[in-house]
Amino acid sequence: MPSRSFSIFCTQCNGYILTYRKEGSGSLIRIYVKQILEPDFFKQFKNSKLKSKIPPLECFQCRQKLGTPKIHEPGNRPAYQMIKGTFFKKESKKQP
Ligand SMILES: [Zn+2]
Repeated sequence: MPSRSFSIFCTQCNGYILTYRKEGSGSLIRIYVKQILEPDFFKQFKNSKLKSKIPPLECFQCRQKLGTPKIHEPGNRPAYQMIKGTFFKKESKKQP
């Protein structure tokens, strides 16, 4: 399956949030913590089994809330359920 990278930005302040590796097509409704490429901050949560151990996804600048932590079945994968209208994405041009 082809994967593409997207950078996500806050709609309120245009601040950079994260870069995500997405598989397949469709909109970003749920993002898996394991597929967040940057910033490194998120790497500590990629194997979390409890959503209470994962901080809410907020803008680092204006603190707008962009996503809610979830443990996604099957596979118990830590993820963020994204809040519509709080973010926009741009495809990032990564070298293959
Ligand atoms: Zn913001």
